[in-house]
Amino acid sequence: MSLAKRHALVTGSTSGIGLAIARALAKEGADVVINGMGDPTKIEAERTGIEKDFGVRAVFNGADMTKPAEIAAMIADAQTKLGSLDILVNNAGIQFVSPIETFPIEKWDAILAINLSSAFHAMRAAIPGMKTQKWGRIVSTASAHSLVASPFKAAYVAAKHGLAGLTKTAALELATSGVTVNCISPGYVWTPLVENQIPDTMKTRGLTREQVINDVLLVAQPTKQFVTVDQVAAMVVYLCSDAAAQVTGANLSMDGGWTAA
Ligand code: NAD
Repeated sequence: MSLAKRHALVTGSTSGIGLAIARALAKEGADVVINGMGDPTKIEAERTGIEKDFGVRAVFNGADMTKPAEIAAMIADAQTKLGSLDILVNNAGIQFVSPIETFPIEKWDAILAINLSSAFHAMRAAIPGMKTQKWGRIVSTASAHSLVASPFKAAYVAAKHGLAGLTKTAALELATSGVTVNCISPGYVWTPLVENQIPDTMKTRGLTREQVINDVLLVAQPTKQFVTVDQVAAMVVYLCSDAAAQVTGANLSMDGGWTAA
């Protein structure tokens, strides 16, 4: 149990990649705060499932990642309830697919807020405690879209490039403090976020579901396989380990070779 006595918070962990990360950290012995939207009954089942499966404490906080004050309050609540916050995983994210000239302004604002600014607000609140205890791990779920672009994803690509830049800046600021800051850039991971963008892409490009999966989503991924949520979670566990103490400021690709091309 390499993370026993560590306390972690994973934003956007009621589903998909975030839930897998929270469960993987709990499996290593960390107490976890889970966060996100969704059906309260299902969220409570996920929370109690983590406690039962791994014998750790799991707390739910429903802070809205578009609201800076709620994000700061969630970090403070985690520190109070768990005693400290050692690991912060910025994972909440949404997607919207549209040409720039018709991209809804409220979708642009929401994607920038949830996929980029929320990480800034969470880091801003969590860093003082990590500096004081001289140990911390900050990991953000970026994307292959932090390194390369795709058409019709202006807000997502802009936010993820920004998240990679924020990661590098924070890593330099915290380099001598015992706190590492990294991001992971998956290619296409099979989650509700990917599944939910298929209808929009079908409409925007006039394609069938199979064509979107094979010719749009996996066309960029040379291995022709989706990344799994457990593979991303395993990378987070590694970055939180002592073996990764000198890994900081990195943007780690996990994209089946997409960005090698
Ligand atoms: P998902 O839709 O399954 O999960 C997103 C999570 O974010 C959910 O828990 C949701 O409730 C939460 N969330 C959304 N809006 C929120 C808000 N306002 N406040 C609080 N929580 C909110 O998606 P996923 O695929 O698991 O994506 C997780 C992260 O991984 C995102 O940052 C995404 O950009 C990134 N990512 C996903 C893929 C992929 O192919 N699925 C690839 C690269 C990166």
